[in-house]
Amino acid sequence: MLTANTPISQLTSVGKTIAGRLESLDIKTAGDLLYHFPFRHEDFGQRIAIASLKPGPAVSLSGTIDLIQNRRSKNRRLYVTEALISDDSGQLKVIWFNQPFLAKTLKPGDYVALAGKLESQYGQLTLLSPSYEKRVAADNDSETAGLVSVYPSTSGITQKQLRFLIRQILPLAKSAKDWLPEESRQRLKLLTLEKALMNIHFPASALDLEQARIRLGFDELLLRQLKARLAKRALASLPARPLKFFGDEIRNLIASLPFALTQDQKKSAWEILQDLQKSQPMARLLEGDVGSGKTLVAALALFNTALNGQQGALMAPTEILAHQHYQSFIKLLKDFPIKIALLTNSRQQANFSVKTEKKSSKDSKKQLVAALQSEADILIGTQALIQDNIRLPRLALAIVDEQHRFGVRQRKRLGTSQEAAPHFLSMTATPIPRSLALALYGDLDVSIIKEKPANRQAIITSLINAGNREATYSFIREQIQAGRQAFVVCPLIDESDNLGVKSATVEKEKLDNEIFPELKVGLLHGRLKAAEKEAVMAEFLNNKIQILVATAVVEVGVDVPNASIIIIEGAARFGLAQLHQFRGRVGRGEHQSYCFLSPGEGPAASNPKTLERLRALTKYQDGFALASIDLKLRGGGDSYGTSQSGFPELKIASLFDYALVKSAQEEADRLLGIDSELKRFPELKKALTGWEEALHLE
Ligand code: ADP
Ligand code: MG
Repeated sequence: MLTANTPISQLTSVGKTIAGRLESLDIKTAGDLLYHFPFRHEDFGQRIAIASLKPGPAVSLSGTIDLIQNRRSKNRRLYVTEALISDDSGQLKVIWFNQPFLAKTLKPGDYVALAGKLESQYGQLTLLSPSYEKRVAADNDSETAGLVSVYPSTSGITQKQLRFLIRQILPLAKSAKDWLPEESRQRLKLLTLEKALMNIHFPASALDLEQARIRLGFDELLLRQLKARLAKRALASLPARPLKFFGDEIRNLIASLPFALTQDQKKSAWEILQDLQKSQPMARLLEGDVGSGKTLVAALALFNTALNGQQGALMAPTEILAHQHYQSFIKLLKDFPIKIALLTNSRQQANFSVKTEKKSSKDSKKQLVAALQSEADILIGTQALIQDNIRLPRLALAIVDEQHRFGVRQRKRLGTSQEAAPHFLSMTATPIPRSLALALYGDLDVSIIKEKPANRQAIITSLINAGNREATYSFIREQIQAGRQAFVVCPLIDESDNLGVKSATVEKEKLDNEIFPELKVGLLHGRLKAAEKEAVMAEFLNNKIQILVATAVVEVGVDVPNASIIIIEGAARFGLAQLHQFRGRVGRGEHQSYCFLSPGEGPAASNPKTLERLRALTKYQDGFALASIDLKLRGGGDSYGTSQSGFPELKIASLFDYALVKSAQEEADRLLGIDSELKRFPELKKALTGWEEALHLE
């Protein structure tokens, strides 16, 4: 019998290969499939006769393929697939780029539903890179009529296969336990869980879909709220070590800086230092847009902790960033006898000497790590800091940088020591307004750095294409001659089969040998050894390398204030939040900075929404404005991906849906008001535990 625990391998037409691919999507059981939500829906619903079509960004139609063939574009760099589609009323030209397999998949005579951008090209209406569904005939084939779910997938699994599988397990929705108290559900006019699960996968109408989205989004937000409130209560019951405020030393350190702190930096630092003096553990979120100077605020708190003779730790998401923090802390605190250590999987070093007896290199590494954890005042590292062999009994302050890059459990782990609870600070560039941050992180207090350092100018952002690339390179050459440096970001490390996607390796060779032979060009990506990464970063920091070609490894945190130019290749492949983070690599010093976006090639690059997304970057500097534009462009109810905005725990709910966030918040309060232990809501309590466990799998 089919249950939520039935392994996917027991479903019809799931062999070993498919099972493996599903597993890479974290789908192991029928229940996982039920909760594998679509991230958007394609509307194949409103079909219009071809003869009456008008140009527009999202046009749907159905027809029969009369002709389909591949050719190479004039510059031979693109595959173009051209087709003619007709219905009773007329005929239409359709073009896809770089999908030559389409000419095999779709054959003359096939009946297809298409949705895409319709443009008038040389007086002829042309449908550009539409999504397509082969259909049996012009009937009511429920598979592809109306709103069709589009799922997160992986190579080797088609949307059709996913839909087929989900249809198989859909009866499970009936037996899904609705854990939301019936009284709450009715009062809030929410769908039953069963209905919501059915409708999110196979909505009969836009209204059905919206209601499903509301119910499932509410679920996530409510669980999040409850968890946050319970966590806050648990935390408040633990004692922490109060840390004295060393005012003179802090003021001296600030006075020694080459710049003045912004008001917001001062205020945040003040709030944090106040919290540290309490014997209740601090639980605070420090939010500030890219480049707003969060590191310094963290450094002040860690410095103050060290002056108390206590230990502080800072965890960063990448080795590059941890190493950078390590170096900048040493520089910042050079006049003080503070012991600083770096601890990553491949690096264990410190600004103080540690004695180890060299028995074997493995033993000495062990000894070194042990000595660093017991002796350092400030420990900087990656996830290596939360490995099992690490014990930090003196830990009084734990800070997580770029917290959205870590799973919930990792964040929390850094904060667990044996005796006293450490004070805890999370830092993020995720742009959300204070009210929402408070609502979402009910367990955290929030400090926000809004104001940018005074020396910052807007980053001039523009699009590059084949036509202005030469000129852009000349401009970059001039800038570099004037002393500046440049990042070039590419989507991939190596050349792949994906035609037209730039790889860092190839791009580096090209820039180094053909475009800028007179300059030193470096290469940075995740597969380099730690020592190689450090060497490249050090050379870039010292301006020994003028152009750094890199993959997404430079997305967060990297700070090279002399770099004033960033080119983002294949920009269409990155989300808006990610692009904003990349752009934040420049504009970190007093130099006028520039960001050049090259959409890349292929269907994503010619998608009108992509171009609009990129244009938004050319207009706006502010992370919050961009995040809300991103949401609008993806269309409310059209996309549920919040992973970009740093909330991996929310699959469906939108952070910008104030009303829903608020109603979840109120309901959480109400339920806890009725029963602070939730004992009267056993199903809800079970769901909460299950949800936390699922998150911990991250
Ligand atoms: P983020 O908030 O993105 O982590 P960082 O802490 O890396 O930003 O700071 C970005 C850059 O700005 C660093 O080079 C830092 O030294 C510098 N900086 C920090 N505060 C100020 C300030 N008040 N005035 C000028 N520059 C500052
Ligand atoms: Mg940072």
